[in-house]
Amino acid sequence: MTTLRFTAIEKATQHLPLEISAPDKLPSDYYGKYVFNKKQMAKFLSKETMRTVLEAIDKGTTLQREIADHVAVGMKMWALEMGATHYTHWFQPLTDGTAEKHDSFIDYAGGSNLEVMETFSGKLLAQQEPDASSFPSGGIRNTFEARGYTAWDPSSPAFIMDDTLCIPTVFISYTGEALDYKTPLLKALSALDKAAVEVCKLFDPNVKKVYSYLGWEQEYFLVDQALYEARPDLVLTGRTLMGHESAKNQQLEDHYFGAIPPRVAAFMREVEFEAYKYGIPLKTRHNEVAPNQYELAPIFSETNLAVDQNLLIMTLMNKIATKHHFKLLLHEKPFAGINGSGKHNNWSLGTDTGVGLFTPGKTANENLQFVTFLVNTLMAVYKYNGLLKASIMSAQNAHRLGANEAPPAIISVFLGKQISAVLDKIEYSSEDDEITVEELKKMKLGVAHIPEVLIDNTDRNRTSPFAFTGNRFEFRAVGSSANCSSALTALNAAIAAQLTEFKSEIDKKMKKGMKKEEAVYDTIRLYIKACKPIRFEGNNYSEEWKMEAEKRGLDCETSVPLIYDAYTSDQSVEMFESTGVMTKKELEARNEVKWEIYTKKIQIEARVLGDLCINHIIPVATQYQSVLLDNICKMKTVFNETKAAELSKEDASLIEEIATHIAAIKKNVDDMVEARKVANKIEDAREKAIAYHDTVLPYFNVIRYHVDKLELVVDDQMWPLPKYRELLFIN
Ligand code: ADP
Ligand code: MG
Repeated sequence: MTTLRFTAIEKATQHLPLEISAPDKLPSDYYGKYVFNKKQMAKFLSKETMRTVLEAIDKGTTLQREIADHVAVGMKMWALEMGATHYTHWFQPLTDGTAEKHDSFIDYAGGSNLEVMETFSGKLLAQQEPDASSFPSGGIRNTFEARGYTAWDPSSPAFIMDDTLCIPTVFISYTGEALDYKTPLLKALSALDKAAVEVCKLFDPNVKKVYSYLGWEQEYFLVDQALYEARPDLVLTGRTLMGHESAKNQQLEDHYFGAIPPRVAAFMREVEFEAYKYGIPLKTRHNEVAPNQYELAPIFSETNLAVDQNLLIMTLMNKIATKHHFKLLLHEKPFAGINGSGKHNNWSLGTDTGVGLFTPGKTANENLQFVTFLVNTLMAVYKYNGLLKASIMSAQNAHRLGANEAPPAIISVFLGKQISAVLDKIEYSSEDDEITVEELKKMKLGVAHIPEVLIDNTDRNRTSPFAFTGNRFEFRAVGSSANCSSALTALNAAIAAQLTEFKSEIDKKMKKGMKKEEAVYDTIRLYIKACKPIRFEGNNYSEEWKMEAEKRGLDCETSVPLIYDAYTSDQSVEMFESTGVMTKKELEARNEVKWEIYTKKIQIEARVLGDLCINHIIPVATQYQSVLLDNICKMKTVFNETKAAELSKEDASLIEEIATHIAAIKKNVDDMVEARKVANKIEDAREKAIAYHDTVLPYFNVIRYHVDKLELVVDDQMWPLPKYRELLFIN
């Protein structure tokens, strides 16, 4: 008898590395080839049109229809030259990934003999109405008015994928509410720009724009395609719902930064070549901690573009993996017992004058600006720590945060020794001190040599969910499959609100006659005291930290459906509305969507788990039991009863052991199905998600425990599902 598993193993071992050759001599020869970037604009648009477009991008203003018409003509010419036959508005619904609906360029030319021509107008470029009524909207669109439209975002360049011109767009309802990830992100970036420029002007009147930057680090697993297909849980849920730990895991730490296996190296090469064609500046690639886990990261760029590029690279990686007979796993926790996958979001702010606002400066003025932005960030993360956690939370990421080896579901900030020392110095300088320019210069001494020290900063705390790393913050709690927009909308909006509050404090103090530096210094000192609970330099994975964080009043909620409540707290609603990022109605609607998605994910997992147990595991275990029983019977035909009984002792106890596990699995699966039935009767999305979390999810681990025990005792030849050692070590 050959099981699907052995056929899969055989196929997997026959998969060989593909030969991948470079598209051209140097990446710079083909970099951005598929993107309608400035170079292509210059070729296909008039100078005047190009200038207007670039200005609109810079200022965030809307483009006149006439200009859109001009752009459409140029874009179409470029796309046809590139061999495209279709175009699509590429948008980011509240489900995972991106969505697109392709339309052909052809249309009737208008003559009597029904000839066709390639057309594309400014109207089609600027706006589209996909019949997208089945995307989640949290009740914003009732089905009778199920209209949503997509609108062009000129700040992210159009690109060609296969035969289709893809135009990045926002997705909104006819009544104006955001139905996607991009809309609120763009609003948050604009709010941040406005608020940060005001604060920057305290230090440099020449600043006109502040940018938010993002450099993501994408972690992922690769599993052989044949093995993947033999695991219904991976296929349907993206993670393994069962599987005993492999004898060898990551304990030797021999995978991290180790030599990249040849098949994987070929995959990575092709991903890089393709990424360059799309203007995605991939910079690093390496093995991660867990077996078959890897990471890639580009050079950072403006946040909106970086988010789109991350979504694009996830699509590209998926496609390319299939070609290499791999399956890409972006799930945050595909395997129990080893590391999960995250997507560190390296985030910073910078001015149009070229100053990094989280880069320690060289002059007293620059340093005061650096400390101002640093402390306001701490303050924002402190105030909105529950919200920031909600912004990265999902059914998948919950397995990574707060579970075993992962960081807990608590947001804290790591600053490192030097920066902490600087803040301490400011905090403990006497309140009555007259702050003189001289003293500020003295402070500079403490800060100015930080860059050198930080470059080889050895105390980078890997356990912190939000860490300062020299010239940026690293938001590490973001999950590998997530759309970074969610986290960066919350973060940038929170910072915007905080900076606005800071600026009005300064204005008040200056009105009362305080000098500018003094007002800044004074406010910062108060903030440093106030936001102290968010700073944590120790081991975030420790049990003590959980207790300590609770005492400090940080958000320690671990239930995903309840974590989402942070979005609609009075404080969050006030923040999102005052920054113009989202309305209360939008926040409520989006939470509905989150709860629904959560429920569905757990529901699907529960069904798959039940099916695997009843139809795959129990039958095989029973079959093995009967082999053992058969053996016991046959013993009696050869030996006398006492001898036979003695020789069958082990078999008999194994039969009992198997029977116990089978009974436990059966009982718990039945109970889980019952719990699901009860939960399914609940109408309210939040209550239903809570029921799934509290009453369905807990069965998963119990059931899994017994299945994994069976895996250890049942004949390997019979076991139907590829084992961890096969999934993790065949590559
Ligand atoms: P590590 O794994 O050591 O944290 P990597 O080099 O893998 O670092 O990734 C760091 C990421 O941070 C890269 O995407 C890089 O471009 C980005 N980055 C570097 N400086 C900044 C900055 N000032 N703002 C935002 N991102 C940055
Ligand atoms: Mg990093």
